[in-house]
Amino acid sequence: MNGQSSQHAWTERYAGALMNTFGAPKLVLTRGTGAHVWDADGREYVDLLGGIAVNALGHAHPRLVGAVTEQLGTLGHISNFFASEPQIRLAERLLALLGLGDLGGRVFFTNSGTEANEAAFKLTRRTGRTRVVATEGAFHGRTMGALALTAKEAYRAPFEPLPGDVVFVPYGDAAALEAAVDETTAAVVIEPVQGEAGVVVPPRDYLPAARRITHERGALLWLDEVQTGIGRMGSWFAHQHPDLVAEPVVPDIVTLAKGLAGGIPIGACIATGGTGKLFDPGNHGTTFGGNPVAAAAALAVIDTIEDEGLLEHVTALGERLRVGLGADARVTEVRGTGLLIGLDLAQPLAAEVVAAAQDAGFILNAATPERIRLAPPLVLTAEDVTAFLAAWPGILDAAGLTTGAVTGGAR
Ligand SMILES: *Cc1c(COP(=O)(O)O)cnc(C)c1O
Repeated sequence: MNGQSSQHAWTERYAGALMNTFGAPKLVLTRGTGAHVWDADGREYVDLLGGIAVNALGHAHPRLVGAVTEQLGTLGHISNFFASEPQIRLAERLLALLGLGDLGGRVFFTNSGTEANEAAFKLTRRTGRTRVVATEGAFHGRTMGALALTAKEAYRAPFEPLPGDVVFVPYGDAAALEAAVDETTAAVVIEPVQGEAGVVVPPRDYLPAARRITHERGALLWLDEVQTGIGRMGSWFAHQHPDLVAEPVVPDIVTLAKGLAGGIPIGACIATGGTGKLFDPGNHGTTFGGNPVAAAAALAVIDTIEDEGLLEHVTALGERLRVGLGADARVTEVRGTGLLIGLDLAQPLAAEVVAAAQDAGFILNAATPERIRLAPPLVLTAEDVTAFLAAWPGILDAAGLTTGAVTGGAR
Protein backbone atom coordinates (compact mmCIF):
# COMPACT_ATOMS: atom_id res chain seq x y z
CA MET A 1 0.00 0.00 0.00
CA ASN A 2 3.07 2.29 -0.37
CA GLY A 3 2.62 3.33 3.23
CA GLN A 4 -0.67 5.02 2.29
CA SER A 5 -3.76 3.75 3.96
CA SER A 6 -6.93 3.14 2.07
CA GLN A 7 -8.49 5.78 4.37
CA HIS A 8 -6.01 8.29 3.09
CA ALA A 9 -6.63 7.51 -0.58
CA TRP A 10 -10.41 7.78 -0.20
CA THR A 11 -10.11 11.01 1.76
CA GLU A 12 -8.12 12.54 -1.10
CA ARG A 13 -10.74 11.44 -3.63
CA TYR A 14 -13.47 12.86 -1.38
CA ALA A 15 -11.75 16.24 -1.36
CA GLY A 16 -11.53 16.19 -5.16
CA ALA A 17 -15.17 15.34 -5.80
CA LEU A 18 -17.35 16.64 -2.95
CA MET A 19 -18.15 20.19 -1.94
CA ASN A 20 -16.25 21.23 1.15
CA THR A 21 -19.22 21.88 3.42
CA PHE A 22 -18.32 19.46 6.21
CA GLY A 23 -14.53 19.82 6.37
CA ALA A 24 -12.34 16.76 5.93
CA PRO A 25 -14.15 13.53 6.89
CA LYS A 26 -12.92 12.04 10.15
CA LEU A 27 -13.07 8.52 8.73
CA VAL A 28 -14.19 6.67 5.65
CA LEU A 29 -16.53 3.96 6.90
CA THR A 30 -17.29 0.77 5.02
CA ARG A 31 -19.67 -1.35 7.13
CA GLY A 32 -21.44 -1.64 10.44
CA THR A 33 -23.42 -3.95 12.65
CA GLY A 34 -25.25 -3.04 15.83
CA ALA A 35 -23.46 -0.07 17.39
CA HIS A 36 -20.14 -1.01 15.72
CA VAL A 37 -18.65 0.36 12.47
CA TRP A 38 -15.48 -0.40 10.51
CA ASP A 39 -13.31 1.99 8.52
CA ALA A 40 -11.66 1.52 5.14
CA ASP A 41 -8.54 0.15 6.85
CA GLY A 42 -10.55 -2.44 8.75
CA ARG A 43 -10.43 -0.72 12.17
CA GLU A 44 -13.46 -1.19 14.41
CA TYR A 45 -15.23 1.54 16.40
CA VAL A 46 -18.11 1.71 18.85
CA ASP A 47 -20.44 4.30 17.30
CA LEU A 48 -21.63 6.55 20.14
CA LEU A 49 -22.97 9.19 17.74
CA GLY A 50 -25.30 6.95 15.73
CA GLY A 51 -25.24 9.07 12.58
CA ILE A 52 -26.24 12.05 14.79
CA ALA A 53 -29.14 10.43 16.63
CA VAL A 54 -30.32 8.69 13.45
CA ASN A 55 -29.28 5.01 13.61
CA ALA A 56 -31.83 4.08 16.26
CA LEU A 57 -31.47 0.37 15.48
CA GLY A 58 -27.75 0.64 14.89
CA HIS A 59 -26.28 -0.59 11.64
CA ALA A 60 -27.68 -3.36 9.43
CA HIS A 61 -30.49 -4.31 11.84
CA PRO A 62 -32.19 -7.36 10.30
CA ARG A 63 -35.70 -6.02 10.86
CA LEU A 64 -34.93 -2.71 9.15
CA VAL A 65 -33.10 -4.45 6.31
CA GLY A 66 -36.00 -6.89 5.95
CA ALA A 67 -38.70 -4.22 5.93
CA VAL A 68 -36.89 -2.03 3.39
CA THR A 69 -36.01 -4.97 1.16
CA GLU A 70 -39.53 -6.34 1.18
CA GLN A 71 -41.14 -2.96 0.52
CA LEU A 72 -38.68 -2.07 -2.25
CA GLY A 73 -39.39 -5.44 -3.86
CA THR A 74 -43.13 -4.78 -3.66
CA LEU A 75 -43.70 -1.06 -4.31
CA GLY A 76 -40.78 1.32 -3.94
CA HIS A 77 -41.95 4.75 -4.97
CA ILE A 78 -45.18 6.27 -6.16
CA SER A 79 -45.91 9.98 -6.34
CA ASN A 80 -48.17 11.74 -3.90
CA PHE A 81 -50.89 11.56 -6.54
CA PHE A 82 -51.28 8.10 -5.01
CA ALA A 83 -51.32 6.71 -1.49
CA SER A 84 -49.62 3.63 -0.04
CA GLU A 85 -50.54 1.44 2.90
CA PRO A 86 -47.25 1.96 4.80
CA GLN A 87 -47.67 5.74 4.61
CA ILE A 88 -51.20 5.61 6.01
CA ARG A 89 -50.23 3.11 8.71
CA LEU A 90 -47.26 5.23 9.76
CA ALA A 91 -49.33 8.41 10.03
CA GLU A 92 -51.91 6.60 12.18
CA ARG A 93 -49.15 5.09 14.30
CA LEU A 94 -47.49 8.44 14.99
CA LEU A 95 -50.80 10.03 15.95
CA ALA A 96 -51.45 7.10 18.31
CA LEU A 97 -48.00 7.46 19.92
CA LEU A 98 -48.75 11.12 20.55
CA GLY A 99 -51.80 9.97 22.52
CA LEU A 100 -54.10 12.62 21.09
CA GLY A 101 -57.37 10.75 21.60
CA ASP A 102 -60.38 12.69 20.31
CA LEU A 103 -58.28 15.74 19.46
CA GLY A 104 -56.70 13.85 16.57
CA GLY A 105 -54.19 15.23 14.13
CA ARG A 106 -52.79 15.10 10.60
CA VAL A 107 -49.33 14.27 9.27
CA PHE A 108 -47.28 15.63 6.36
CA PHE A 109 -44.24 13.48 5.47
CA THR A 110 -40.94 14.89 4.25
CA ASN A 111 -37.40 13.55 3.67
CA SER A 112 -35.49 15.38 6.38
CA GLY A 113 -35.72 17.45 9.52
CA THR A 114 -35.28 20.77 7.83
CA GLU A 115 -38.10 19.97 5.42
CA ALA A 116 -40.37 18.95 8.28
CA ASN A 117 -39.68 22.38 9.78
CA GLU A 118 -40.26 24.12 6.44
CA ALA A 119 -43.67 22.45 6.28
CA ALA A 120 -44.40 23.56 9.84
CA PHE A 121 -43.21 27.11 9.13
CA LYS A 122 -45.55 27.36 6.14
CA LEU A 123 -48.35 25.86 8.23
CA THR A 124 -47.93 28.63 10.83
CA ARG A 125 -48.42 31.25 8.07
CA ARG A 126 -51.88 29.76 7.50
CA THR A 127 -52.95 31.14 10.88
CA GLY A 128 -53.02 34.59 9.26
CA ARG A 129 -50.16 35.71 11.53
CA THR A 130 -46.50 35.79 10.56
CA ARG A 131 -44.42 36.29 13.72
CA VAL A 132 -42.53 33.23 15.02
CA VAL A 133 -40.75 33.20 18.36
CA ALA A 134 -37.67 30.93 18.41
CA THR A 135 -34.98 30.42 21.04
CA GLU A 136 -31.33 31.32 21.42
CA GLY A 137 -29.11 28.27 20.84
CA ALA A 138 -31.78 26.69 18.64
CA PHE A 139 -31.04 24.52 15.63
CA HIS A 140 -33.87 23.82 13.21
CA GLY A 141 -32.08 23.07 9.93
CA ARG A 142 -30.18 24.54 6.99
CA THR A 143 -32.79 25.43 4.36
CA MET A 144 -33.72 29.11 4.25
CA GLY A 145 -36.88 28.89 6.36
CA ALA A 146 -35.46 26.58 9.01
CA LEU A 147 -32.27 28.65 9.02
CA ALA A 148 -34.33 31.74 9.80
CA LEU A 149 -35.40 29.93 13.00
CA THR A 150 -31.84 28.79 13.80
CA ALA A 151 -29.95 31.06 16.14
CA LYS A 152 -26.30 30.44 15.30
CA GLU A 153 -24.86 33.54 13.68
CA ALA A 154 -22.15 31.64 11.75
CA TYR A 155 -24.84 29.57 9.99
CA ARG A 156 -27.12 32.54 9.28
CA ALA A 157 -24.91 35.47 8.37
CA PRO A 158 -23.61 34.27 4.96
CA PHE A 159 -27.19 33.74 3.74
CA GLU A 160 -29.08 36.79 4.88
CA PRO A 161 -31.67 38.05 4.16
CA LEU A 162 -33.59 35.09 5.57
CA PRO A 163 -37.39 34.78 5.71
CA GLY A 164 -38.53 37.35 8.22
CA ASP A 165 -40.59 38.03 11.29
CA VAL A 166 -38.62 35.70 13.57
CA VAL A 167 -37.59 36.83 17.05
CA PHE A 168 -35.31 34.99 19.47
CA VAL A 169 -35.69 34.69 23.23
CA PRO A 170 -33.39 33.03 25.78
CA TYR A 171 -33.99 29.26 25.94
CA GLY A 172 -35.66 27.85 29.03
CA ASP A 173 -36.84 31.28 30.18
CA ALA A 174 -40.63 31.32 30.59
CA ALA A 175 -40.68 35.01 31.55
CA ALA A 176 -38.94 35.93 28.29
CA LEU A 177 -41.57 33.97 26.37
CA GLU A 178 -44.32 35.66 28.36
CA ALA A 179 -42.92 39.03 27.25
CA ALA A 180 -42.33 38.10 23.60
CA VAL A 181 -45.57 36.31 22.70
CA ASP A 182 -48.61 38.44 21.89
CA GLU A 183 -51.73 38.42 19.71
CA THR A 184 -49.58 38.83 16.57
CA THR A 185 -47.53 35.68 17.26
CA ALA A 186 -48.23 32.81 14.88
CA ALA A 187 -46.13 30.25 16.71
CA VAL A 188 -43.47 29.52 19.28
CA VAL A 189 -40.93 26.92 18.15
CA ILE A 190 -38.97 25.04 20.81
CA GLU A 191 -36.73 21.99 20.97
CA PRO A 192 -37.80 20.13 24.16
CA VAL A 193 -34.06 19.59 24.70
CA GLN A 194 -31.59 21.51 22.51
CA GLY A 195 -29.53 18.88 20.71
CA GLU A 196 -27.01 20.70 18.53
CA ALA A 197 -26.31 23.18 21.33
CA GLY A 198 -24.87 20.26 23.32
CA VAL A 199 -27.95 18.74 24.99
CA VAL A 200 -29.34 21.73 26.88
CA VAL A 201 -32.24 20.77 29.14
CA PRO A 202 -34.76 23.45 30.16
CA PRO A 203 -36.53 23.62 33.55
CA ARG A 204 -39.39 21.10 33.86
CA ASP A 205 -41.99 23.83 33.92
CA TYR A 206 -40.78 25.45 30.68
CA LEU A 207 -42.92 23.55 28.18
CA PRO A 208 -46.05 23.72 30.37
CA ALA A 209 -45.50 27.50 30.64
CA ALA A 210 -45.01 27.76 26.87
CA ARG A 211 -48.27 25.86 26.40
CA ARG A 212 -50.17 28.18 28.71
CA ILE A 213 -48.68 31.34 27.17
CA THR A 214 -49.36 30.29 23.57
CA HIS A 215 -52.87 29.18 24.50
CA GLU A 216 -53.68 32.52 26.09
CA ARG A 217 -52.51 34.51 23.05
CA GLY A 218 -53.83 32.22 20.32
CA ALA A 219 -50.38 31.21 19.09
CA LEU A 220 -49.32 27.70 18.07
CA LEU A 221 -46.88 25.68 20.17
CA TRP A 222 -44.51 23.91 17.80
CA LEU A 223 -42.09 21.38 19.27
CA ASP A 224 -39.09 20.40 17.14
CA GLU A 225 -38.49 16.77 18.15
CA VAL A 226 -36.32 16.01 15.12
CA GLN A 227 -33.48 14.93 17.44
CA THR A 228 -35.34 14.06 20.65
CA GLY A 229 -38.26 12.05 19.24
CA ILE A 230 -38.92 8.32 18.68
CA GLY A 231 -37.40 6.78 21.77
CA ARG A 232 -34.12 8.67 21.94
CA MET A 233 -34.81 9.95 25.47
CA GLY A 234 -36.55 6.84 26.79
CA SER A 235 -40.07 7.97 25.87
CA TRP A 236 -41.61 8.15 22.40
CA PHE A 237 -41.42 11.95 22.50
CA ALA A 238 -39.34 14.13 24.82
CA HIS A 239 -42.38 16.24 25.66
CA GLN A 240 -43.98 13.15 27.20
CA HIS A 241 -41.07 12.40 29.56
CA PRO A 242 -41.82 13.12 33.24
CA ASP A 243 -38.15 13.96 33.88
CA LEU A 244 -38.38 16.70 31.25
CA VAL A 245 -41.88 18.13 31.71
CA ALA A 246 -43.61 18.79 35.02
CA GLU A 247 -47.03 18.11 33.52
CA PRO A 248 -48.24 16.72 30.21
CA VAL A 249 -48.22 19.13 27.27
CA VAL A 250 -50.20 18.76 24.04
CA PRO A 251 -48.41 20.69 21.29
CA ASP A 252 -50.04 22.03 18.13
CA ILE A 253 -47.16 20.94 15.90
CA VAL A 254 -44.46 18.30 16.33
CA THR A 255 -41.67 17.86 13.80
CA LEU A 256 -39.71 14.62 13.51
CA ALA A 257 -36.94 13.16 11.36
CA LYS A 258 -33.52 11.82 12.44
CA GLY A 259 -34.27 8.52 14.22
CA LEU A 260 -37.72 7.99 12.74
CA ALA A 261 -36.71 5.48 10.05
CA GLY A 262 -33.34 4.50 11.50
CA GLY A 263 -31.31 5.96 8.65
CA ILE A 264 -33.70 5.85 5.70
CA PRO A 265 -34.46 9.53 4.97
CA ILE A 266 -37.83 10.65 6.30
CA GLY A 267 -39.30 13.54 8.24
CA ALA A 268 -42.76 14.32 9.55
CA CYS A 269 -44.69 17.46 10.37
CA ILE A 270 -47.52 16.47 12.67
CA ALA A 271 -50.24 18.94 13.60
CA THR A 272 -52.88 18.29 16.22
CA GLY A 273 -56.56 19.21 16.25
CA GLY A 274 -57.59 22.00 13.89
CA THR A 275 -53.96 22.91 13.14
CA GLY A 276 -53.79 19.69 11.12
CA LYS A 277 -56.38 21.14 8.76
CA LEU A 278 -54.71 24.49 8.01
CA PHE A 279 -53.20 23.41 4.68
CA ASP A 280 -55.52 23.33 1.69
CA PRO A 281 -54.80 21.28 -1.42
CA GLY A 282 -51.95 22.92 -3.32
CA ASN A 283 -50.49 24.71 -0.28
CA HIS A 284 -47.56 22.35 0.08
CA GLY A 285 -46.03 19.31 -1.57
CA THR A 286 -43.12 16.90 -1.98
CA THR A 287 -42.10 14.26 -4.50
CA PHE A 288 -40.37 11.77 -2.22
CA GLY A 289 -41.87 12.60 1.18
CA GLY A 290 -43.52 9.59 2.83
CA ASN A 291 -42.60 7.16 0.09
CA PRO A 292 -43.50 3.53 0.82
CA VAL A 293 -39.92 2.40 1.53
CA ALA A 294 -39.25 5.19 4.03
CA ALA A 295 -42.64 4.63 5.69
CA ALA A 296 -42.04 0.86 5.94
CA ALA A 297 -38.64 1.57 7.49
CA ALA A 298 -40.19 3.86 10.09
CA LEU A 299 -42.83 1.28 10.95
CA ALA A 300 -40.05 -1.31 11.42
CA VAL A 301 -38.19 1.07 13.75
CA ILE A 302 -41.29 1.73 15.86
CA ASP A 303 -42.22 -1.97 16.00
CA THR A 304 -38.68 -2.93 17.01
CA ILE A 305 -38.47 -0.29 19.75
CA GLU A 306 -41.72 -1.70 21.11
CA ASP A 307 -40.96 -5.41 20.71
CA GLU A 308 -37.40 -5.22 22.07
CA GLY A 309 -38.34 -3.01 25.03
CA LEU A 310 -35.87 -0.37 23.88
CA LEU A 311 -37.45 2.53 25.81
CA GLU A 312 -36.57 0.79 29.10
CA HIS A 313 -33.18 -0.26 27.72
CA VAL A 314 -32.37 3.32 26.69
CA THR A 315 -33.36 4.62 30.12
CA ALA A 316 -31.15 2.13 31.97
CA LEU A 317 -28.10 2.48 29.70
CA GLY A 318 -28.35 6.27 29.66
CA GLU A 319 -28.34 6.39 33.44
CA ARG A 320 -25.27 4.15 33.61
CA LEU A 321 -23.45 6.24 31.03
CA ARG A 322 -24.22 9.55 32.76
CA VAL A 323 -23.11 8.31 36.16
CA GLY A 324 -19.97 6.68 34.75
CA LEU A 325 -18.88 9.60 32.59
CA GLY A 326 -19.59 12.15 35.30
CA ALA A 327 -17.52 10.20 37.84
CA ASP A 328 -14.37 11.70 36.31
CA ALA A 329 -13.58 15.07 37.91
CA ARG A 330 -12.59 16.47 34.51
CA VAL A 331 -16.27 16.31 33.52
CA THR A 332 -17.93 19.33 35.10
CA GLU A 333 -21.55 18.63 34.12
CA VAL A 334 -23.54 15.79 32.58
CA ARG A 335 -26.96 16.46 31.04
CA GLY A 336 -29.66 14.58 29.22
CA THR A 337 -32.14 11.76 29.53
CA GLY A 338 -32.02 8.34 27.92
CA LEU A 339 -29.43 8.16 25.16
CA LEU A 340 -29.14 11.85 24.34
CA ILE A 341 -26.27 12.90 26.58
CA GLY A 342 -24.24 16.09 26.77
CA LEU A 343 -21.27 16.70 28.99
CA ASP A 344 -19.11 19.69 29.76
CA LEU A 345 -15.34 19.41 30.05
CA ALA A 346 -13.10 21.26 32.49
CA GLN A 347 -11.20 22.74 29.54
CA PRO A 348 -12.39 23.56 26.01
CA LEU A 349 -10.78 20.42 24.57
CA ALA A 350 -13.82 18.72 23.06
CA ALA A 351 -12.17 18.32 19.64
CA GLU A 352 -9.14 16.72 21.31
CA VAL A 353 -11.40 14.37 23.28
CA VAL A 354 -13.19 13.33 20.07
CA ALA A 355 -9.83 12.65 18.38
CA ALA A 356 -8.49 10.69 21.38
CA ALA A 357 -11.72 8.68 21.55
CA GLN A 358 -11.43 7.84 17.86
CA ASP A 359 -7.86 6.63 18.40
CA ALA A 360 -9.21 4.44 21.21
CA GLY A 361 -12.00 3.06 18.97
CA PHE A 362 -15.00 5.18 19.98
CA ILE A 363 -16.95 7.71 17.87
CA LEU A 364 -18.10 10.82 19.76
CA ASN A 365 -19.19 14.34 18.76
CA ALA A 366 -17.97 17.75 19.87
CA ALA A 367 -21.13 19.87 19.98
CA THR A 368 -19.17 22.98 21.07
CA PRO A 369 -15.50 23.50 22.05
CA GLU A 370 -16.30 22.41 25.63
CA ARG A 371 -19.25 20.08 25.09
CA ILE A 372 -19.33 16.43 24.06
CA ARG A 373 -22.53 14.89 22.74
CA LEU A 374 -23.46 11.21 22.71
CA ALA A 375 -26.44 9.96 20.72
CA PRO A 376 -25.66 6.26 20.24
CA PRO A 377 -27.95 3.67 18.66
CA LEU A 378 -30.80 2.68 20.97
CA VAL A 379 -29.51 -0.90 20.59
CA LEU A 380 -26.16 -0.04 22.20
CA THR A 381 -25.25 -2.95 24.48
CA ALA A 382 -24.23 -3.04 28.15
CA GLU A 383 -20.85 -4.42 26.98
CA ASP A 384 -20.34 -1.38 24.72
CA VAL A 385 -21.03 0.88 27.71
CA THR A 386 -18.64 -1.08 29.92
CA ALA A 387 -15.88 -0.84 27.30
CA PHE A 388 -16.39 2.88 26.81
CA LEU A 389 -16.49 3.72 30.52
CA ALA A 390 -13.29 1.71 31.03
CA ALA A 391 -11.58 3.68 28.25
CA TRP A 392 -12.94 7.10 29.30
CA PRO A 393 -10.26 8.24 31.81
CA GLY A 394 -7.51 7.28 29.34
CA ILE A 395 -9.28 9.23 26.58
CA LEU A 396 -9.36 12.33 28.79
CA ASP A 397 -5.66 11.80 29.64
CA ALA A 398 -4.74 11.54 25.97
CA ALA A 399 -6.71 14.72 25.21
CA GLY A 400 -4.73 16.61 27.86
CA LEU A 401 -7.67 17.27 30.21
CA THR A 402 -6.85 18.23 33.79
CA THR A 403 -9.13 18.59 36.80
CA GLY A 404 -9.42 22.29 36.07
CA ALA A 405 -7.77 23.42 39.28
CA VAL A 406 -6.60 26.95 38.59
CA THR A 407 -2.83 27.24 38.82
CA GLY A 408 -0.83 30.43 39.26
CA GLY A 409 -3.76 32.37 40.63
CA ALA A 410 -4.85 33.79 37.27
CA ARG A 411 -8.52 33.50 36.42
C1 LIG B 1 -30.90 17.73 12.88
C2 LIG B 1 -31.98 18.65 13.26
C3 LIG B 1 -32.73 19.34 12.29
C4 LIG B 1 -32.41 19.26 10.82
O1 LIG B 1 -32.59 17.97 10.30
P1 LIG B 1 -31.95 17.60 8.87
O2 LIG B 1 -32.49 16.22 8.61
O3 LIG B 1 -30.47 17.66 9.02
O4 LIG B 1 -32.45 18.59 7.91
C5 LIG B 1 -33.76 20.14 12.72
N1 LIG B 1 -34.06 20.26 14.03
C6 LIG B 1 -33.36 19.62 14.98
C7 LIG B 1 -33.76 19.79 16.42
C8 LIG B 1 -32.29 18.82 14.64
O5 LIG B 1 -31.58 18.20 15.58
